[in-house]
Amino acid sequence: MRQNKKSSFEPTTIMLAASSKCPAECKYCFAPAGMEDMSLDILERAVTFIKTLLGDQKRFRINFHGGEPMMAGIGWYRKALPLLRAAFGARVRLCIQSNLWLLNQEWLNLFNEYGVGISTSLDGPESICDGQRGAGYFANTMRGIALIRANGQDVPVIATIGKSAANAKDCREIYDFFNSRRLHFAVHGAIPSISRGVTEETLPPGGMLVVLKSMAEEYFRDTRAISINMIDTMIRALYYQRPSLCSFSNCLGSFLAVSADGKLYPCQRFCGVSPYAIGDLAENPDQANIIHSGGYKLLADTRQEIALSCLESGCKHFPYCNGGCCYAAIAARAHKTVLHGRDPFCAAYRGFFDALEVRLTAEMQDSMIGAGAAMPLLSITQGARYMPRAHP
Ligand code: SF4
Ligand code: SF4
Ligand code: SF4
Repeated sequence: MRQNKKSSFEPTTIMLAASSKCPAECKYCFAPAGMEDMSLDILERAVTFIKTLLGDQKRFRINFHGGEPMMAGIGWYRKALPLLRAAFGARVRLCIQSNLWLLNQEWLNLFNEYGVGISTSLDGPESICDGQRGAGYFANTMRGIALIRANGQDVPVIATIGKSAANAKDCREIYDFFNSRRLHFAVHGAIPSISRGVTEETLPPGGMLVVLKSMAEEYFRDTRAISINMIDTMIRALYYQRPSLCSFSNCLGSFLAVSADGKLYPCQRFCGVSPYAIGDLAENPDQANIIHSGGYKLLADTRQEIALSCLESGCKHFPYCNGGCCYAAIAARAHKTVLHGRDPFCAAYRGFFDALEVRLTAEMQDSMIGAGAAMPLLSITQGARYMPRAHP
């Protein structure tokens, strides 16, 4: 069984870590610290590199990431956005993942002028959010969300659930918060960082199943108002037997992160973790250099080990789970939060896939006999539902 020795590197999502700085102090943060903001020289090198790598036809996405990417300053974006549009035109979809603390109408006008989609991070109601992310986070981010909505735009949210909120009561409150405000959200568990280790908010492996089941219980009462990205993705993955979120796909080769100092990584989560660097713009790498880099080989080998471990465990969900997130697995190995070496939320994903499968099968049987019962899971598999951006 060979899973991941990809012979081509053609990312469809490129993350530009414009700044590693951030005014917030979330307890589970693992952004690299102490790096200068991305210079325009590095951005220009990145543009040249992407052009050579992807040619002049492929459509792809650039996601400004951090730290907090707006910390690079509006002047940087006034130069960067026209540069990127001139180089790639409409075939690049521009997005920014920001906590919105710096957002004002001037920023918003600039993002609108260049078609930049905005998504944010918020962990639910103020007491829960600020308990994990520090005092003032909720108010600052909600102000940004209100501004975007006042301009008639939608803003998808990523909610990260840490140890303190991984209980049925808090999960219900988090769901009610997003549902009552009609905010679509993606749910992630707080994982340890490879470089910073376990934090007080790292979600214990079993906590993720509590989170998924508690949220789903509320969500399945009415799936029309909002969507929960992780749950929708898992239902679709089961139904179509293929993954659609990076955490459940073989991500190697599909993502590229450019850190503020011009080093290249397989995903923004790895920025600053030097064994996983796959190149450096200063050395004008090409596709072959990337594939033969130490970081790429290391990750391919790790992916392979994870895949073998999944298959040896007899897991039937591998075709659409793919071993989960390889960063999470590597961080969990480094800090020994699980012993099996797979994604620390493996047992939670497996248990939740099992539960969804039972329910989806029952709904499919009901639909065949025209039982007329509510079918929340089947409705999620059908038609275009709102999908927040996949990457944290
Ligand atoms: S907003 Fe993001 S980058 Fe900033 S401290 Fe929180 S997790 Fe880290
Ligand atoms: S978040 Fe995890 S699964 Fe997604 S691209 Fe990064 S390493 Fe891969
Ligand atoms: S549920 Fe666990 S064992 Fe199954 S594919 Fe996912 S990570 Fe592997």
